[in-house]
Amino acid sequence: MRFYAAGGCGEHGRSCFLTEGREYSILVDCGEGLGKAGARPLLTGEQIRRIRYCFLTHSHKDHTGALDWLYENGFQGRVYLSEETRDQIGLNREHVHLLRAEDGPGGVKRLDHALTVTHGRSGHCPGSFWFLLQFEGKQLFFSGDYCESSPVYRCDSVSGFWGDLAVMDCAYGDREEDGTELIGKIRKKLEAAIRQKKVLLLPAPALGRGADLLLTALEYGDETEVFGDRRLTDGMKALFSRPQWLKEGAVLQKERKWGKLEDWNGEGGILLLSDPQLEREESRLFAERVREMGGEILFTGHVYEGTWGDRLRKEGKAGFLRYPVHMNRREAEAVRERNSFRKTVLTHCPHEIPAGEGVCSLKTGEWTEI
Ligand SMILES: [Zn+2]
Ligand SMILES: [Zn+2]
Repeated sequence: MRFYAAGGCGEHGRSCFLTEGREYSILVDCGEGLGKAGARPLLTGEQIRRIRYCFLTHSHKDHTGALDWLYENGFQGRVYLSEETRDQIGLNREHVHLLRAEDGPGGVKRLDHALTVTHGRSGHCPGSFWFLLQFEGKQLFFSGDYCESSPVYRCDSVSGFWGDLAVMDCAYGDREEDGTELIGKIRKKLEAAIRQKKVLLLPAPALGRGADLLLTALEYGDETEVFGDRRLTDGMKALFSRPQWLKEGAVLQKERKWGKLEDWNGEGGILLLSDPQLEREESRLFAERVREMGGEILFTGHVYEGTWGDRLRKEGKAGFLRYPVHMNRREAEAVRERNSFRKTVLTHCPHEIPAGEGVCSLKTGEWTEI
């Protein structure tokens, strides 16, 4: 059996992993590159036509963005994913099968004589799964984007598994700090702002990190005011309607109230704005107002070059603390230690990750025998 990295190895983007069996192939994720060019996975028409099953770990573009392209190039197989992922990407095709969060982990679903699947929540975003596939007698683990330290999303911790191959998220492979440390820094920042009765503005996407930050801020709801804009509020409503994805503490925040951003009158508090790069004119004016009032702006995710947010950062007018949604090398090693994987491929990191015992350093376009 061969494992082929069609994308996502030695790069951040276009995660796409092909396993070629005797009878047919299976694919996990079909992402596009995140750069302007939107690079496609390295798959030939022949390889695509041989895929019978495609498993999608979660909705983000770097894992699903090339799915239409896959269909256009002859894919006729079945797709397995969560209902949330299907809804987020608006997938409306034949042969789409849903896996439910409540049924994993531990449940083994037989798809045909050669393939079974077990799935669990990966703690990355609503709808995100990891997969354990048994295929033609081999066992393969795919972590998807995986984060055990999320204060918001449930992660069905991966332990006690064996596998011939593990394909694991290590997007923070070149960083020292782990998720708990990163979250700790953000909490300290929030607490300092509250103590000083300052304004802290957090620009973030409406889905994913925006909801995470709002839920984290609400934990301090007794000590400070929290404000969020309309899109974030709508996103939160959708999230609370699917509590199976949330940690208990996050579900409890449902009773908390937060203010509308447009009603904010200059008092100290935590403000969430669903414009991660501050690209909209009204967001820029809002950010200016915050700064004029002695407030701080804090970015928590990737700030793209050339955006207003980037400019503010470069001029020293905004801070940056990363909100974790992936693993670093140490966290990936901790998962490996709790399981018994014969071979591991670490993915998602744009920088080269040195190979180690049991860890093979594979780049996009390369394959390895399982
Ligand atoms: Zn992701
Ligand atoms: Zn990703």
